[in-house]
Amino acid sequence: MTRIEHIGIAVKDLAAAEEIYARLLGVPSYKREAVESEGVITSFFKTGPNKIELLESTKADGPIAKAIDKRGEGIHHIAFEVADIRAEMDRLKAEGFILLNEEPKRGADNKLVCFVHPKSANGVLVELCQENPE
Ligand code: ZN
Repeated sequence: MTRIEHIGIAVKDLAAAEEIYARLLGVPSYKREAVESEGVITSFFKTGPNKIELLESTKADGPIAKAIDKRGEGIHHIAFEVADIRAEMDRLKAEGFILLNEEPKRGADNKLVCFVHPKSANGVLVELCQENPE
């Protein structure tokens, strides 16, 4: 893994959270993007080399809605950039980590992503992401 790519934060109201994070970070969101397959709409901020991803659920039973039901709003996942997502998935599987998807899937921000189960990583949902070559 090469660096932390972004930190994902689960929010109930994306517009309200965008307003708060714009004031907190001193920059506006630079893009919104829906990820249909995950039932979320995302909003990205850049702070220097780092990114923050706000996530609002578009489905009552989606993963973000469930996370908020369980734990309230807050940090949802940490995403690490990887050069070769399949190689990294194989490496983690061999190390005994539980992957939440067997194949890389399309995430926001033109990335191929894979999630690692939080019970494998001390309660942290880890996202691997690779810049999509297509
Ligand atoms: Zn993410």
